[in-house]
Amino acid sequence: MFKFNHLMIVNLVVLFFYIKKTALQISAQLENLKKFYTIGEDFRWYIKLKCCNCGEETPEFVYCSLGETYPAPHGKSSCSLILKCKLCKRENSLDIIKDSLCSYTSEDSGKFKTILVFDCRGVTPIDFSPRVGWEAVGLESDTSFTDIDLSSSEWYDYDEKAGNSVSITELKFQFVIVK
Ligand SMILES: [Zn+2]
Repeated sequence: MFKFNHLMIVNLVVLFFYIKKTALQISAQLENLKKFYTIGEDFRWYIKLKCCNCGEETPEFVYCSLGETYPAPHGKSSCSLILKCKLCKRENSLDIIKDSLCSYTSEDSGKFKTILVFDCRGVTPIDFSPRVGWEAVGLESDTSFTDIDLSSSEWYDYDEKAGNSVSITELKFQFVIVK
């Protein structure tokens, strides 16, 4: 007969805390823009991570992108980032879930929306740096804006076709554990 033993329960509990899907949610105010988003496999997601085992945090931002994958140390076949914890030496990993990528639209203005989900194994994202490489589309004109720099959490430009100013301001982010 199948019975749970003590070790199996311990393993299940470890697994429960170990694998976490974490959503990156952003909030912003869009002026005369239909949406903004990241494009391509090269976009670098800069994050800081905390080890779930010992609590050690990466001192600097590390990045991952869809275009760079590595053989996963645990379970999945590949992942976007492998990070050996400097303190407890555990090998943690993180994967970008490609299908989760989403634009932030004018209807989302001022509300938090998930734009990306990370499959986290042994780490938790604690900080995000938006940096460069974003794109946006004009509200009525469909003008496309490329190479947007969101390092300072705001961006201003002028849409010549529509004859109005465009901007992304009040950019905020949060991480939320999802099922
Ligand atoms: Zn650690």
